[in-house]
Amino acid sequence: MLPRPEVRWRRGAVSPTAAVGMLSVMSLVLAACGSGLATGDTATDAATSTTGTTTTTGATPGSSTTTSTSAPEGSSTSGQSQNDEALGIGDDYFPDTGNPGYDVISYDLTLDVDDDLVSFEAVAKIALTTTESLDELRLDLDGHEVAKTTIDGTEVPNHRAGLDLVLTPKQPLPAKASVAVTVDYGGTPEPRGSEVLGGLGWLGTPGEGSYVVSEPDGASNWFPANDHPSDKATFGFEITVPEGVEAVANGTRTGETTKSGRTTWSWSVRDPMATYLATVAIGQYTFFEGTAPDGLPLLSAVADEVVKQEGKPAIDAVLGQLPQMLTVLSQRFGPYPFETYGIIVVGKPLGFALETQTRSIFGSDMWAEPIYQAHELAHQWYGDSVSLELWEDIWLNEGFATMGEWLWAEATGGSGGPPLSAGSSLAPPLDPGPDAMFDTSVYVRGGLTLKALRQEVGDTKFFTIMSTWAADHRLANANTDDFLQLVDEVGGSDAESLVSAWLSEPEPP
Ligand SMILES: [Zn+2]
Repeated sequence: MLPRPEVRWRRGAVSPTAAVGMLSVMSLVLAACGSGLATGDTATDAATSTTGTTTTTGATPGSSTTTSTSAPEGSSTSGQSQNDEALGIGDDYFPDTGNPGYDVISYDLTLDVDDDLVSFEAVAKIALTTTESLDELRLDLDGHEVAKTTIDGTEVPNHRAGLDLVLTPKQPLPAKASVAVTVDYGGTPEPRGSEVLGGLGWLGTPGEGSYVVSEPDGASNWFPANDHPSDKATFGFEITVPEGVEAVANGTRTGETTKSGRTTWSWSVRDPMATYLATVAIGQYTFFEGTAPDGLPLLSAVADEVVKQEGKPAIDAVLGQLPQMLTVLSQRFGPYPFETYGIIVVGKPLGFALETQTRSIFGSDMWAEPIYQAHELAHQWYGDSVSLELWEDIWLNEGFATMGEWLWAEATGGSGGPPLSAGSSLAPPLDPGPDAMFDTSVYVRGGLTLKALRQEVGDTKFFTIMSTWAADHRLANANTDDFLQLVDEVGGSDAESLVSAWLSEPEPP
């Protein structure tokens, strides 16, 4: 995720004196890194993020030992059907999201999109494995009419409990069982609220089209999900739209068939993906295809409006940088983790960009800026392939992606980010609180944490740490303690203490 600087500015009330402070930090950072990127609401960061927790939780969400502060989660004995509240997976930042007791293996989503290009009828086929015995099975689903739910081919009753769609099997599902679930549903998705971004999930304009941006908890507005990054799964999409309309999603395009004035676009995602990284864009798009030097297929989709406005040569010039960017970042991070890459450019400004897996999504406002491209591409390693266990570790996504920007700048003759001294005006990036997840401190002080580490251990060890982190947790999940352990192993205990202090102490070393 990368909010545009002025979008970050809009958050919260800032006093005039704080604003002066922000301006001086801003010009310092601007002068240092030579881009409009690393700016923002440092004053609000300091005001809203005061704790600086020094420990991360050891519990793995979704495991049967999850300790949550919320109610009798995961218990298979209680009459939870009477409970009207959503259960969560055990993430304090978003207590309602995710669900206990199972791991999703795959989502296959078939969407039949109305002529308005916003509403749809859908069938979600979900393959999962139970991790404990379950007398009910919960999925996150916000809104929509649910027509029918089945478990292993048998229709089962369902009801709502807050964000949860609760399915009740005839008999309790045993632990470690492979279970096939279907949900027939549909309607017009209602954007989920977000202070930073305004609306999350499936966002549509009748007659124009729709697109999906869900970080952190928006996926449930368009499909029934175990909506937490700790439960990644493969995805397949079959999206039927009126003939002449394009539908692009993550992964590889596997089909395009037209029948009776309706076109079905098929996409498949080979590698596990967090629910918030699933995307679809529907409307008038032009595809741009290519190949990176190592043979990686590239496929981007740019809204026709943007193509008309900018002209194809300008778009080719921006997209033409992706192969070199892939090469540069692969040299530092290790092999690119996925089957394909590309970008989606929607026909309106979004105020941010998002690292939707294998195909990052941009608005018409940010797509042409190489540094933003580098940020979202770096996320493919850090955030998408190596995913969070809990949202409090968001710096593992944003600090690393910010380092990706600086490495790209460095490789193309620019400066590698602001000086370490810029960190002293920024709040600690670890555990910023749910309202400050996308604040500048997480990005810039997160990046500076890595920059300080690089300075401490030198390039060889630093890039060993970066690439080992990507390799050890490829297509999996990890937390800050895991990272500190790796830093200790490769860089020694002084390096580990330095990183800890940068992450948690009010004043960085
Ligand atoms: Zn980001």
